[in-house]
Amino acid sequence: MLIDGKWVDARSGKTLPVEDPATQEIVTHVPAAEKADVDRAVEAARRAFESGPWSRLSPAERSKMVWRLGDLLEQHADEFAEIESLDAGKPVGNARNQDVEGAIGLFRYMAGWPQRLAGETVPVSSTGDWHAYTLREPVGVVGQIIPWNFPLLMLSWKVAPALAAGCTIVLKPAEQTPLSALRFGELVAEAGIPDGVVNILTGYGEAAGAALAAHPDVDKIAFTGSTEVGKLIVRAAAGNLKRVSLELGGKSPAIVFPDADLDHAIAGTADAIFYNQGQCCTAGSRLFAHKSIYDRVVEGVAAQAGKLKIGHGLDPSVNLGPLVSKDQHDRVSGFLQSGRAEGAEVVTGGNAIGDKGYFFEPTVLAQTSRTMRVVREEIFGPVVCVQSFDDDDLDAVAKFANDTEYGLLASVWTRNLKVAHMMARKIKAGMICINAHNYGDAAWPFGGYKQSGWGREMGKEVMEHYTETKSVAARL
Ligand code: NAP
Ligand code: MG
Repeated sequence: MLIDGKWVDARSGKTLPVEDPATQEIVTHVPAAEKADVDRAVEAARRAFESGPWSRLSPAERSKMVWRLGDLLEQHADEFAEIESLDAGKPVGNARNQDVEGAIGLFRYMAGWPQRLAGETVPVSSTGDWHAYTLREPVGVVGQIIPWNFPLLMLSWKVAPALAAGCTIVLKPAEQTPLSALRFGELVAEAGIPDGVVNILTGYGEAAGAALAAHPDVDKIAFTGSTEVGKLIVRAAAGNLKRVSLELGGKSPAIVFPDADLDHAIAGTADAIFYNQGQCCTAGSRLFAHKSIYDRVVEGVAAQAGKLKIGHGLDPSVNLGPLVSKDQHDRVSGFLQSGRAEGAEVVTGGNAIGDKGYFFEPTVLAQTSRTMRVVREEIFGPVVCVQSFDDDDLDAVAKFANDTEYGLLASVWTRNLKVAHMMARKIKAGMICINAHNYGDAAWPFGGYKQSGWGREMGKEVMEHYTETKSVAARL
């Protein structure tokens, strides 16, 4: 792991295995960090923040380093795509075009911020003559905990804005997918970033993650993962009231109106759930189709599922890889059992594939209803629950969409501009896509309402997470 610019083992000497989810072979072992390692990394990050060369860099120099990380990722793009494919089971083409390309774009977008993070002069009305203004300062040492579904991309969403703001970092990747973060760690020094600014600790959430979230000298924690662990992070952060941002789960609705371009809507809503084996926080897992087109949508999405080629992600012709781990495979299988027991109709899929690797068939469940567990809980697999609606009143349709404790993203499929934009207002979610789903862009704020999280990543909004506003008032 990377601590203070040096490659080190865990103090305890413990390691954890890294598995190829398509073959269940152990690829390698990485250090299993614990509290003692977290302490060392936080000390290094604190030193780099307070007194190291990092704290004296100009915004332009910082900007250049962040940009350079994007260049280095681009130079090694194919290698990163292969690492992601091997480690997370992703189809390598998706990893190259979405994960790696997205990470490159993120670093380049964020490289524009250091010179634009300005405070403002404030026109105060108090008696007397005052010169009042604000400064934007980096929040300090940040802990960042990321999941396994988009390992490099989630790293970029966290690391790029924190560096742009002038923070120093202790990052913990997911236990299932530590490899791209370690390879990225080698690029940090190449980009000229001083020792201690970016520290990368591999290890288990319960040990390394929990110690980071609770650490009294960490100023801010940024987390992406399950809502359950998100709540643990909030509790752990209470000790020193560190700032917290959370990007959590979802149960995102995709709503197809009868006037939609149905070929486009069927292909799009199928991709919304099957992309990345359904392991997306924004996955379109609740599909609502108007009664008049319901049969066509169900058949169409099932037909799309049948076209997907399933196999090892490193085979470039594959569209659907394995789930990331045995835990996820058990979890998805368990949901299928529960769905069947509650009366859902399995239109296609529903089963594990083979006995090697964590493959699971792309699955369409029809005749689902709002009280079923498969409709209420995040499955995080290639399983879509279809429901029909027969109401043309948009408030009633929005009520179906909003019938969830989550509020991350929703998609609306229609040719009617009024329906599209009225639905965008009525749905309680942080992101709305019209005739699209799973959209993302470095400049587009990403995050959720309700139990989908706190705050927004990317866009100009993310800079709020990594800066404090200081107000200055001078009596003239
Ligand atoms: P998770 O446990 O929430 O993992 C996310 C990150 O948090 C990992 O780095 C994890 O480390 C760490 N972590 C775990 N327990 C922690 C603790 N007590 N304190 C601090 N950090 C901790 O997610 P998961 O178990 O891998 O997946 C479970 C479910 O979460 C999925 O089925 C899905 O529903 C949801 N999920 C959502 C997203 C998303 O993008 N919103 C991503 C992944 C998963 P370890 O790797 O050691 O667990
Ligand atoms: Mg976990």
